[in-house]
Amino acid sequence: MAIRIETRDPGKAGIRKSVETYTRMYPDYADAIGFYGAVMDVQQQALCEIECAADFSGMDIEGSLRRGSPLLDPAALEIPIRELHGVISGVCSVVEQREAPGFIPCKELLEWDGLAEKGFPETRERLLRGAEYAGKGATDTALLASVIWESMMPFYRKCAAGIQDGIDHSLWQKGRCPICGTGPLMGEFRQEDGLWLLECRLCHTLWNVQRAACPFCSQGLEGSLEYLYLEDYTSYRAYYCRSCGLYVKNVDLHAAQRDAVLPLDNIVSELIGLDRAAEQEGLKPA
Ligand SMILES: [Zn+2]
Ligand SMILES: [Zn+2]
Repeated sequence: MAIRIETRDPGKAGIRKSVETYTRMYPDYADAIGFYGAVMDVQQQALCEIECAADFSGMDIEGSLRRGSPLLDPAALEIPIRELHGVISGVCSVVEQREAPGFIPCKELLEWDGLAEKGFPETRERLLRGAEYAGKGATDTALLASVIWESMMPFYRKCAAGIQDGIDHSLWQKGRCPICGTGPLMGEFRQEDGLWLLECRLCHTLWNVQRAACPFCSQGLEGSLEYLYLEDYTSYRAYYCRSCGLYVKNVDLHAAQRDAVLPLDNIVSELIGLDRAAEQEGLKPA
């Protein structure tokens, strides 16, 4: 049976409302929620202004999925540099409004060769690989990598939005995104029926995996997933597999009966220490 999954676009108003809701739910983390909300605001604005450069017409979507190939090569998607710089400026100005020791001024960042027409493909390739980042004079390399990653996101999300509806998820059910092949940011048990969905770190497409087996390893033994959670935050769990040592954080919306903006749940679950707890178990993010 075909499985269709809708990836919601919360829109600017939806993001603002969610930021308020999450701030009310987790007042201790208001700062971080507000910060990422402002980044999402920039991304939503960009989504209104950019076009997808990939052409999916005539593509054999079903054939690709059956072969196990994602529909898009993330290293090959055309990203117009001028437009990318526009988004980076926006994200940068959000960062600059906060204390960000070790971050370089936006102007300097935009002049860096690694973000010029010629150097960007290599920068992107390193980020996609998850390589340690050596950017222009920034000591906070993780923050710099995040700024560039979050600025690339709208270009992938825009393309994904044009093709998501055509996907029969029963043909996929793997541990990486059917559209761009990137790993998950986080997962949810869907509110209406508890179906397990993962959200892509890059294009933010939702896709379905089965609960019975580990989606990340080829061993994928039935029932091999276990989970850990923190006492005061039982709706967040990290599901992991002993065989491959990978984990993915998850929020149970079916039990909580609430909507979610998973990037905000990702931040809250990190701040409460769920990733730390998983890492102490020797696990790595999927
Ligand atoms: Zn993706
Ligand atoms: Zn596994």
